[in-house]
Amino acid sequence: MNLTTGYPYSLIDNGLVNTYPSLTDSIKTEVAIIGGGISGALTAYYLVNAGLDCVVVDARSIGLGSTCASTSLLQYELDKPLSVLSKQIGFKSAARAYTMCSEAIDTIENISVKINFKLFEKTKSLYFAAYKKDKKLIESEFEYRKKAGFQLQLLSDKEVQNKFGFASPSAILSEQGATIDAYMFTHALLQTIIKKGGGVFDRTKVTKIEYKRNGVKLITGKGHYITAGKVVNASGYEITEFVDKKIVNLNSTYAIASEHIQSHVPVWKDGTLLWNTADPYLYMRLTKDNRVIIGGRDEEFYNTAKRDKLIKKKTALLKKDFSKLFPDIELIPEFSWTGTFGSTKDALPYIGTYNKTPHTYYALGFGGNGITFSVIAAEIILDMITGKKNKDASLFSFAR
Ligand SMILES: Cc1cc2nc3c(=O)[nH]c(=O)nc-3n(C[C@H](O)[C@H](O)[C@H](O)COP(=O)(O)OP(=O)(O)OC[C@H]3O[C@@H](n4cnc5c(N)ncnc54)[C@H](O)[C@@H]3O)c2cc1C
Repeated sequence: MNLTTGYPYSLIDNGLVNTYPSLTDSIKTEVAIIGGGISGALTAYYLVNAGLDCVVVDARSIGLGSTCASTSLLQYELDKPLSVLSKQIGFKSAARAYTMCSEAIDTIENISVKINFKLFEKTKSLYFAAYKKDKKLIESEFEYRKKAGFQLQLLSDKEVQNKFGFASPSAILSEQGATIDAYMFTHALLQTIIKKGGGVFDRTKVTKIEYKRNGVKLITGKGHYITAGKVVNASGYEITEFVDKKIVNLNSTYAIASEHIQSHVPVWKDGTLLWNTADPYLYMRLTKDNRVIIGGRDEEFYNTAKRDKLIKKKTALLKKDFSKLFPDIELIPEFSWTGTFGSTKDALPYIGTYNKTPHTYYALGFGGNGITFSVIAAEIILDMITGKKNKDASLFSFAR
């Protein structure tokens, strides 16, 4: 599957940061992890820290799946508003999912400190009404989130204009949010794992899995075996090659990074994350060198040839979306890219076991909160593998 095309900003900014070997022998390990993106890296980090012997394998060079394409906003807010999700799965479960995403941001901050990773930054997050008709949704959403215990303010049109310099009928300003460089974080985690004795092999594709009574045997494209007691599947959107159950709708999304804006004044206040109620939603963040990263304009197909043909058109549309909000700022897109994206029926990830594949645990953080979901997956899978009960696991289970 072609997961991304174009010039993802993080990849341009950082390039190829580390080199990893490919697997040239057959090996044995306690836990084999398929996928060296942020989900596989975080899960491996948790497992290695718990003293388990782990090996991560990736078909591509490390990070070159969806992770390098990420715009890396960290939000506790899911793709489905809490008020909407509550109607689907109940307030208690929906609020718990929101709270877990919020906690995941703090966890990422703590891990960043522990591994001396500097490209994490706390910010606020502004969810604004795209249209007048969405004012009601914003007001109801504010009440639901307040009830769930989040720190936030409801802003009127005047307050949005005064604080952020653009027009919107109403918005919710949340204290909790952050940005990270997901690609660099993945490398930093994997480097830590290697120092602690874990194995990381890239350009090593798992082509077949044999399920045995006491474990699994993974067969690679070059004919080597990885014999493991357990396997964690963190293969991202390529999970469709492993699991026959339809758990994710694949579609296409677009993003741009502008030239740096040569003004000493930031484009908007505090580097707050901005996103709106449109469907598909528009989102933006600032970089340290005063570029604007803008994403959205999703399409409901994932045919990659069709997706890639639209990059130029989507770049112009995202620029236009920005200009509507900030007509006085000249924004010039410098890098554009597109990626496969996925949504689930309830905007929640799939984490845990699947009854057709023994000894296997899935870390599948689909959607706009992919990165916070990866943290939740790592925590739940650690508990499952070490035999600890996890009271939240059922929220994300394949059986839900
Ligand atoms: C344009 C865009 C913007 C995004 N913005 C955000 C954002 O702002 N915030 C956010 O939280 N999320 C965002 N996401 C989502 C986020 O990037 C993903 O959720 C996250 O990167 C997924 O990580 P992953 O490790 O699960 O998957 P991946 O990074 O795709 O890693 C999976 C890895 O598995 C490997 N693999 C697959 N099959 C095999 C096999 N058979 N053998 C060996 N290896 C295999 C692949 O090569 C791949 O590297 C965005 C995504 C896109 C495309």
